[in-house]
Amino acid sequence: MATDCLFCKIVAGDIPAEVVHETETTLAFRDINPQAPTHVIVVPREHHANAAEMGTNAAALAGDVLAAAGAIAAAEGVTDGYRLVFNTGAGAGQTVFHVHCHVLGGRPLTWPPG
Ligand code: AMP
Ligand code: ZN
Repeated sequence: MATDCLFCKIVAGDIPAEVVHETETTLAFRDINPQAPTHVIVVPREHHANAAEMGTNAAALAGDVLAAAGAIAAAEGVTDGYRLVFNTGAGAGQTVFHVHCHVLGGRPLTWPPG
């Protein structure tokens, strides 16, 4: 566990979250500031700073995160479509430097996102 990492603390159970899905390697919980009717954050239990780092150093884990995201979308019934977002770097809006996949759905999602 990385000290001072919010999502490591949620994984450890030190900070509460509304957990909606978990596997041996991943945990998913509702975003505290939802941007869509379905807005779930999927994290690997293991700390990696961002998606590229996880993909490079733990490729199977990246697959686990994507599989979890798909299972959550199905469970949430966002059958019209959903969006998976990995903000990477402060300039792209990343505020928590423990890789996480935003699962967004339940409303029309425009493209480009702006
Ligand atoms: P990002 O901006 O991509 O780093 O996403 C971080 C996300 O974590 C934001 O959408 C926040 O609303 C969300 N967030 C921050 N703190 C919590 C928390 N305690 N529980 C659930 N989601 C959180
Ligand atoms: Zn962490």
